[in-house]
Amino acid sequence: MLTDTHVHFREAMTPDEIAGMVGRASAAGVGRLIAVGCEPDANAAALRVAAMFPECVKAAVAYDRSLAGTGARVEGIRELILSAPVGHVAAIGELGLDFHYTPETAEAQQALMVEQLALARELRLPVIVHSREADQETVALLSAHARQWGGGSDRIGVLHCFTGTESLARQLLDLGFMISFSGIVTFRNADLLREVARGIPADRLLIETDTPYLTPVPHRGRPNEPCYLPAIAALLARVRGMDVEELAGLTTANSEKLFGSGL
Ligand SMILES: [Zn+2]
Repeated sequence: MLTDTHVHFREAMTPDEIAGMVGRASAAGVGRLIAVGCEPDANAAALRVAAMFPECVKAAVAYDRSLAGTGARVEGIRELILSAPVGHVAAIGELGLDFHYTPETAEAQQALMVEQLALARELRLPVIVHSREADQETVALLSAHARQWGGGSDRIGVLHCFTGTESLARQLLDLGFMISFSGIVTFRNADLLREVARGIPADRLLIETDTPYLTPVPHRGRPNEPCYLPAIAALLARVRGMDVEELAGLTTANSEKLFGSGL
């Protein structure tokens, strides 16, 4: 069984559309999903899906870089988590830095991330981290977080949709983070990324679709969804020289270590 550790359910999806997507995933062998929010509507959508499918979906809620500098209060995330049914929220995410699209809010992005890392320490929840063109700053903030982290050593968090260098991966692994690969690893021009994926220790590897973005080869041209995760699993299994069942088993086990096994 595969676990898709990063799925964005759009707020506008009807219950039928959500059930269809979860059903197609399950039929494709993707039996566990992490529904990831990033702003108020998306956080509500993630919680709604976790409530609809408590046996196979957990939610992550957070404010991502788009909320930086808007006055969004992290207290709102604390309230969402504490008012959700016990076990529905498995992580704080996604949060992080993106200096590619929004370099003008770099300072505010870092302040928002710092506040949410503190909340993660207080609630002992793992974080799902986004980083684009901000590697140095991301590592600095996560290093400080790791020094103060009081939770389990394999529960600190994950760098999602990893596209960085081997050196960045090494720094994150040293801090205790897992590394998650999306459909980007299937793209024709991703030889360097496949090289990095080959070297990630088996107990730190996760996979995700990042639905609805980044549809993997050979499904390009369609909106992404969790039922396409097997294409990513097959590619990674080939790169790492293992069979896909083994890859599925170890990535699902890693997801359970990170996010908890109460599904
Ligand atoms: Zn995402």
